[in-house]
Amino acid sequence: MAVFFDTHAHLDYPDFAADLPHLIERAAAAGITRLVSIGTDLESSARAVALAERFDSVFAVAGWHPNDAVRAPKDFRTELRALAQHPKVVAIGETGLDYFRLPSASGGNAADDAHVKARQAEAFQQQLEVAAETGLNCVIHTRGECFDETLRMMEPFAGRLRGVLHCFVGPQERLRRGLELHSLVSFTGIVTFKNAAEVRATVAATPLDRLMLETDAPFLAPMPYRGKRCESAYVKEIAAAVAQTKNCSLDELSAATCRTAREFFPKLR
Ligand SMILES: [Zn+2]
Repeated sequence: MAVFFDTHAHLDYPDFAADLPHLIERAAAAGITRLVSIGTDLESSARAVALAERFDSVFAVAGWHPNDAVRAPKDFRTELRALAQHPKVVAIGETGLDYFRLPSASGGNAADDAHVKARQAEAFQQQLEVAAETGLNCVIHTRGECFDETLRMMEPFAGRLRGVLHCFVGPQERLRRGLELHSLVSFTGIVTFKNAAEVRATVAATPLDRLMLETDAPFLAPMPYRGKRCESAYVKEIAAAVAQTKNCSLDELSAATCRTAREFFPKLR
């Protein structure tokens, strides 16, 4: 059976509290042998680390999500550095920028938007610094009209760290610019959606050694589970769609994506 990794899941979310050991068993039965649980703030990151300590196949990423950046302490680099030292913390994130849901979309004003953007940028900058210091790469979230700004903030760190542009949906122009910065991209269950032809065109254009697979569970379940709770076993459906799009075998995709993940997450064993 071809083996794959789920490089991005939120296993600490309450959605999984009742049946996480079963979820991990189902993943293993489907050939999904490594699960990377992504922190969204310091508490969530600490929970991800606890899961990594409890389950052999689980690894953790520690960081602060841009959508929660307004709650972040002014400076959380000390706490993040401490988490980064853990032997199973394999990257920093998820971090980045999100201009998709700014306050003005729900009655706020321009000053509110500016405040949120500034806090996101501060949190992102601190995470890039800690990643560079600790020799880890970054899991990057970028959504809304902030792709240029996301890359602009990453540019000074090129050569010291790489990013993975998670839940990547294209277009190919953004793929080209991400690859130029030595970043990777990772694809979710969206690649299986009927209306996602543009995403599949981006998958087809991505070099086989620059992509990883992820669920973003509990979100974005692939077909035929669309709309239901997503879980790591469904990487199998994502892998099938990506292999078909790239016209390669599951074994080739397995070898390429697992090698890429081990290089990107140096502590992933
Ligand atoms: Zn995520």
